[in-house]
Amino acid sequence: MSELNLGDTVTTRKPHACGCNKWQIVRMGADYKLKCTNCGHVVMLSSDKFHKVAKLAKQ
Ligand SMILES: [Zn+2]
Repeated sequence: MSELNLGDTVTTRKPHACGCNKWQIVRMGADYKLKCTNCGHVVMLSSDKFHKVAKLAKQ
């Protein structure tokens, strides 16, 4: 997996309920927090889950 930094935008395989699949990384560590770039909703994922579902978005 490519290097990710706080503030990067990632995409997920499944879009958020609002239809957007781009998320900004707002917290990294044992848990990751992602903020939906469309509606601002924040979700928390374990590191394992994050690395399974997220990948760096093409800028
Ligand atoms: Zn959303």
